[in-house]
Amino acid sequence: SNTEIAPDQLAYSLDREYVFHSWSAQASLTPRVFAGGEGTIIWDHEGHRLLDFSSQLVNTNIGHQHPRVVAAIKEQADRLTTVNPAHAHLARGRAAQRIIELAGDGYEKVFFTNGGADAVENAIRMARLHTGRDKVLSAYRSYHGNTGAAIAATGDWRRVSNEYAHGHVHFFGPFLYRSEFWAETPEQESERALQHLEHVIRAEGPGSIAALIMETIPGSSGILPPPPGYLAGLRALCDAHGIMLIFDEVMAGFGRTGDWFAHHNSQLNPTGVRPDLITFAKGVNSGYVPLGGVIIPPAIARTFDERVFPGGLTYSGHPLATAAAVATLDVMAEEGIVENAARIGRDVLGPALHELAAVHPIIGEVRGVGVFWALELVADPVTREPLSAARMAALKGLLLARGMLPFIAENRIHVVPPCTVSDAEVREGIALYDSALSDLMAG
Ligand code: PLP
Repeated sequence: SNTEIAPDQLAYSLDREYVFHSWSAQASLTPRVFAGGEGTIIWDHEGHRLLDFSSQLVNTNIGHQHPRVVAAIKEQADRLTTVNPAHAHLARGRAAQRIIELAGDGYEKVFFTNGGADAVENAIRMARLHTGRDKVLSAYRSYHGNTGAAIAATGDWRRVSNEYAHGHVHFFGPFLYRSEFWAETPEQESERALQHLEHVIRAEGPGSIAALIMETIPGSSGILPPPPGYLAGLRALCDAHGIMLIFDEVMAGFGRTGDWFAHHNSQLNPTGVRPDLITFAKGVNSGYVPLGGVIIPPAIARTFDERVFPGGLTYSGHPLATAAAVATLDVMAEEGIVENAARIGRDVLGPALHELAAVHPIIGEVRGVGVFWALELVADPVTREPLSAARMAALKGLLLARGMLPFIAENRIHVVPPCTVSDAEVREGIALYDSALSDLMAG
């Protein structure tokens, strides 16, 4: 019987015995057990608390267990938990209306999916059918999800063992710290990356390219804000060749950058470039119930007025997920959560991370905006050699031992607390990074 075993122990052993994990060789995993949370804090069954500077997979933008969103999910559960997507229901209609209002002028409809990958999948399908073209361009150093076309669009190692979808072509996006273009300034990086992309488009045949998909700020691959002029350059290239521009805002959207959408950020996108399609998930309801979707402009909506859209999902616009989205978006607006993310990034977290880099030469670069930051850790600040996997694992252990749940990716710390994070929690988090980095250097 399971009854005498402590719940943390039981959760761990059930997991190890029966659960198959994502993106992992299974034998040596040691998953942490979590049982509850509140705001920026998450805990196990015994009440050991960690400061969550990961937002899980960068999705709990309103923090853990926001009471109003939890109540909205319960209320919807009491009324109607599931419904055929061919039918209409209030939660889905209201969620779509709010998302269209937040997206701003130029968008008309929302197609709901279960998460980010299937949002990307359907955005690509729409672009292909709308243009009658086949190829899709996407960046190396990108992550777009784990279904057929989404993984083929992905620009990192996770694509390589999954390359069975067709028509995907990759290019290098801008990343000045590790420039592919020998650039020395952000302006050079932007200009040269656009020139490279133009050559790729020409070499592939512009008339064969349906879509260009780009994370507005590439997230999983290192939180890489685009340099000046890059987004406008993408738009111009797409316009010149009739290519649909898709901004993948699955990670960057819904508050993370201190804006409702990352491309609304006037620093990143001073000329107000708008994509043709927007994909979203994660922050739309903080992942309390799985939800994603595609935001569709009138021109693409018209393509499917009389023509059948050949795509759908049993749970498209699931009542629990869309009720959670309505409550999340209301809470974010009423509690000034997006504004908090912007202020924290500008006045508290950003400056503190730069101060941290000034005292720890192991931090090669600090980059980001809002509550979406990366620390690039290097073995040598001159050669920029990435810190080794063993040292990164040691750093992760030091942070966990001090009471932080960090987000570690390759040689980087992604500093991604919820948009609700307080000034005091930021100071606490920075102190934990500071002392863990000092210990790592001493050890
Ligand atoms: N697109 C981006 C930019 C992402 O960051 C992710 C997930 O991290 C996805 C798509 C895939 O989303 P999901 O895991 O919900 O399918």
